[in-house]
Amino acid sequence: MSIISRKGNGANVFESQYREDAPRRRANAHQTVSRFPRETRPRYAVPKSNAFTLYKYGSDALKQKYIFKLVTADYIGAFAITEPDAGSDVMAMSSTAQDEGDHWLLNGSKTWISNADVADVVIYYAYTDKGKGSKGLSAFVIEPKRFNGIKTSVLEKMGSHSSPTGEIFLTNTKVPKENIIRPDLCSKQQFRNH
Ligand SMILES: Cc1cc2nc3c(=O)[nH]c(=O)nc-3n(C[C@H](O)[C@H](O)[C@H](O)COP(=O)(O)OP(=O)(O)OC[C@H]3O[C@@H](n4cnc5c(N)ncnc54)[C@H](O)[C@@H]3O)c2cc1C
Repeated sequence: MSIISRKGNGANVFESQYREDAPRRRANAHQTVSRFPRETRPRYAVPKSNAFTLYKYGSDALKQKYIFKLVTADYIGAFAITEPDAGSDVMAMSSTAQDEGDHWLLNGSKTWISNADVADVVIYYAYTDKGKGSKGLSAFVIEPKRFNGIKTSVLEKMGSHSSPTGEIFLTNTKVPKENIIRPDLCSKQQFRNH
């Protein structure tokens, strides 16, 4: 697998993974994980997709802070797009992020989120300005175990019990200003990366 170094901002992990032999290396990794029960995959894949989103769209400070911990599994990751009234139609989401000058104030709820109750880091999607459509949609790094105003719950499922799935509720959650991920780049490509 890739060489992981504590030097730099963690981007070297992905530079080594996404060079020309990347498809073969990724296929090998997925093949290895596939030997375990199917539901094991989110445990491995979700934090990795978080790290990749941060690598592609995050600031240097966010890369420095989170990528290394996500790829070494020090941190469990999650991404939160789906809402009770916004599944396939992601643009129907109603979570909001208000600019409060020195921080963001987030409100809303998400459902069907893999790792919701165990995640250290969640990439949470919310509108800064719903009137602007996709251009008013942003992603934020939140830390459910550290930030105030975050509650989670676990959903009962018929299967896939080794991968917890749950809800996330934000009520006036203060998020540091720098935890926004490229406000101008909430594209279909970014959603696809998850
Ligand atoms: C185990 C599990 C883990 C999950 N983990 C996460 C996670 O970590 N993060 C996260 O954000 N979400 C997660 N989800 C949510 C998942 O991504 C959503 O279920 C998905 O986006 C579909 O949304 P929905 O369930 O509301 O279905 P709906 O959007 O209601 O769709 C239902 C069906 O209708 C079809 N359909 C919808 N719209 C159209 C259309 N316009 N034309 C034709 N057909 C259509 C769909 O293809 C689907 O078959 C998870 C779900 C599960 C079950």
